[in-house]
Amino acid sequence: MKAYEKNIRIVEPYVPGEQPQHKVIKLNTNENPYPPAPGVKEALEKMDADRLRLYPDPEASALTEALAKYYGVGKNQVFVGVGSDDVLSMCFLTFFNSDKPVLFPDITYSFYKVWAELYRIPYECQKLDENFRIVKEDYYKENGGVIFPNPNAPTGLYEDIRFVEDVLTHNQDVIVIVDEAYIDFAGESALKLIDRYENLIVVQTFSKARSMAGMRIGYAIASPKLIGYLNDVKYSFNSYTMNQTSLVCGAASVKDEEYFRHTVKMIVDTREWAKKQFEELGFRCLDSGANFLFVTHPEQDAKELFEALKEAGIYVRYWGSSRIEQYLRVTVGLREEMEILFRFLRNKIIN
Ligand code: PMP
Repeated sequence: MKAYEKNIRIVEPYVPGEQPQHKVIKLNTNENPYPPAPGVKEALEKMDADRLRLYPDPEASALTEALAKYYGVGKNQVFVGVGSDDVLSMCFLTFFNSDKPVLFPDITYSFYKVWAELYRIPYECQKLDENFRIVKEDYYKENGGVIFPNPNAPTGLYEDIRFVEDVLTHNQDVIVIVDEAYIDFAGESALKLIDRYENLIVVQTFSKARSMAGMRIGYAIASPKLIGYLNDVKYSFNSYTMNQTSLVCGAASVKDEEYFRHTVKMIVDTREWAKKQFEELGFRCLDSGANFLFVTHPEQDAKELFEALKEAGIYVRYWGSSRIEQYLRVTVGLREEMEILFRFLRNKIIN
């Protein structure tokens, strides 16, 4: 090692799912198979390229106001960022500064560990139980903060609002972040609790239910006090996180509630149908509250299956890490895409 390398921040980065540039059946990164709301396309077409000469609004008002109105909260309770990854990363930097460890599940969104390492935040992973459920009692001990996704990823398991409230009541002295990237496919959001718990932050995204992963929009909703702290850190980092196009298109998406509800329902229906198809083929499928299914087969090696699927142009996600080495995560695509997947699996498993 060269002397100068001793002062380099060396990290093990998060590895995103593959984005192949050729056409495949893409069930590997939980994107939405439907296009964004029609109003988004209209807003894009109306955009004036000359406007790009100017910096965007640093307060991202068009978007924060649209979200505040949608959720019935104050504008000062909304923080937006470049995907929920950006928002979550800012939250780690802003709120997790204790010597005590931040707690999150052992099997969860693998970016949490990366941010903790990047910002040198102590952390301790809490083991999911044998059914891959979060054990709430594990979060009762002293800690420097709590974060978990609900539904969890990659399991897809959703915990109800009483579970979230129980974790909150046992953690009044630290910040609790609930990462609700997939909540629209599941059930009640913890947003209901923000008025009663000043230390709660709910993070959501436009990448999944709103079909806008390519636009990179995420947001946090919390008490004005916490949003104030987040903004102070943001302005100390990069004032213009949200580009003009995202602001305009994000606001347009929020306005089309009917389209949003309709496409979410189609994905949930396809998910429940796909779960039955997997089970008929002998797979074990966790109950999913998300736009993906976490599946395992008693006689099929997950890694081999993953590779065979890829060879056939069907991309799913495989990690091979401890406890989940026999599992695949399959995003819910269009019904036609899922039919191609099941045709392939039927041939492979039955023949
Ligand atoms: N949280 C969870 C649990 C996720 O699975 C993802 C998607 N990879 C994200 C956050 C980040 O999504 P985005 O940055 O696209 O909003």
